Amino acid sequence: MTRRPLIAANWKMYKTPHEAAEFFAKILPLVHKHERDEVVVCPPSPLLAACHTAIAGTNIALGGQNLYWKEEGAFTGEVSGRMLKSVGCTHVIIGHSERRQYFGETDDTVNLKLKAAVKAGLTPIVCVGEVLEEREAGVTDDVLRRQCQVALRELSTEEAKALVIAYEPVWAIGTGRTATPQIANAAHITIRTEAREILGETIAAGMRILYGGSVKPDNITELMAQSEIDGGLVGGASLDPLAFAKIIQY
Ligand code: PEP
Repeated sequence: MTRRPLIAANWKMYKTPHEAAEFFAKILPLVHKHERDEVVVCPPSPLLAACHTAIAGTNIALGGQNLYWKEEGAFTGEVSGRMLKSVGCTHVIIGHSERRQYFGETDDTVNLKLKAAVKAGLTPIVCVGEVLEEREAGVTDDVLRRQCQVALRELSTEEAKALVIAYEPVWAIGTGRTATPQIANAAHITIRTEAREILGETIAAGMRILYGGSVKPDNITELMAQSEIDGGLVGGASLDPLAFAKIIQY
């Protein structure tokens, strides 16, 4: 089963529309012929429409960093899947550890958001990963299995077809500490095995599992050489067009 690699940029709460335009002016000439990998940039919501214009007709797709599970309503500050679609998004990150840590997201809300994303026709990038204490206590696999079990609850195999999971060990995000390729690969095997239990062999074998956590131009090649690593979710290094172009061209 061949899985087309996916390289996704998580811009977190960085950049203005002007800075985003400068980013695309620099990166597009460098990657415009790149076809091997699917590439997605996930900017903050206020930048989505401008970024959509900037990448129109290119090989870079657009993603949101979050969504709410209701279609519309009195939910101040939230955006729906339909709204993300309407400004050109094809992907959405769900359950990033910063959302879990600072904004009270849980495995259950991740599940609701995942189902809402699928319903809206978005490709969900669902983040899972252990914190340092869990790794040190030897419960990483239990944590990953639980996160997958709850996130994927009541998801049909049809709905799971587009699903992407990002393994992001929390201790490696924004810290400069990367999981070794072997540690990452082992976690990806746990995730794929759990996905196989829940969704069956065909879906699990075709499902892309990204690694995220201090991915940089100098470690992407080794990470991508692992059998179970199908791409990267890149935070800090995706803000720099030259670094992100190098990562895309690992
Ligand atoms: C992320 O934001 O998902 C991430 C992995 O960040 P960084 O690459 O900066 O560790």
